[in-house]
Amino acid sequence: MVNYQGILISWYQINKRDLPWRNTKDPYKIWLSEILLQQTRVNQGLPYYIKFVESYPNLKSLSNANEDDVLRLWQGLGYYSRARNMLSTAKELENNYRGVFPAFYSEIIKLKGIGEYTAAAIASFSFDEQVAVVDGNVFRVLSRLFDVETPIDSSAGKREFKILATALLDRKNPGIFNQAIMEFGALQCTPQNPDCNNCVLLHLCASKERGTVNQRPIKSKKTKSKPRFFVYKIFTLGNDTFIQKRTGKDIWQGLYEFPLEEFVDKKSQLDYIERHKNKLVYQSPEINHILSHQRITAVFLCFKAGLEIEESTSGLLRIPRSELFHYPVSVLIDNFLKNTNDLSFLSFDENVD
Ligand code: SF4
Repeated sequence: MVNYQGILISWYQINKRDLPWRNTKDPYKIWLSEILLQQTRVNQGLPYYIKFVESYPNLKSLSNANEDDVLRLWQGLGYYSRARNMLSTAKELENNYRGVFPAFYSEIIKLKGIGEYTAAAIASFSFDEQVAVVDGNVFRVLSRLFDVETPIDSSAGKREFKILATALLDRKNPGIFNQAIMEFGALQCTPQNPDCNNCVLLHLCASKERGTVNQRPIKSKKTKSKPRFFVYKIFTLGNDTFIQKRTGKDIWQGLYEFPLEEFVDKKSQLDYIERHKNKLVYQSPEINHILSHQRITAVFLCFKAGLEIEESTSGLLRIPRSELFHYPVSVLIDNFLKNTNDLSFLSFDENVD
């Protein structure tokens, strides 16, 4: 019988990256690393992991944190529901599990924000439970190694790959094996230009033999991207400006922003800007911001001081301009504040009341 497990674990021991969450069995830190790395590259997630562990070294410290501080630390990573769910789960574990992380997959998966993949990762990496992980890397490695044509985003595909991954799992070393196959997908069997000629599985790889490597894995659905048109309104009074917290079920929930107008199409967005032109001290260039399922076209407008501001800002949070950077905001707003060369309209010299 082919020893896939031995080959992958030996490869892993030689080639694995030295990452801090690989030197611990602490389920809190493994949970944190897995949540941080969802939809995020390791290089991007690593500094966040370090910052997070410094600020919240254990479950108890996170359970006592407030949401604004956690979101501020998360700022720039996107998918902010991950941070909100972590906070809520930390509180739940502290209050109802005596601050102890559950040790079994069947219990871990009941926690908010933890899906099949993350539960399997925590259960196997921390507690060596015999449960297979199936993430994007594992889908790719298995679909190529066994030349599987079933789409990975179909329910039949999800079932088939789970069965395959479970059959392949190293029963003696489930945690190490799971990490090995994921790392193999991340470093060797990469989405583009996999290094097949130097691959330890080359002689076993069905898609290499059949010339289908570049067609694996197969996906059935195309991700749709929805266009959105935003105008952010910046009002200033003295040394203060106005912001609001996003509370609806939408992107960036819990983050702060300048008051926002959203339009159904570009024409209405441009009409709005045109109608307000004579009230502005500043208009930003158009900023295009891409999210996984949305394409946002945003413009920032800074309004002249005047009575109108009092009406337009009722219900908003009035803060000193100097405190703007203390609030968690989206990357779109953060980039605007960092990259706009001339933010003199925010200096309040011209439009004090
Ligand atoms: S031979 Fe190529 S496609 Fe097959 S497992 Fe190795 S890297 Fe992946």
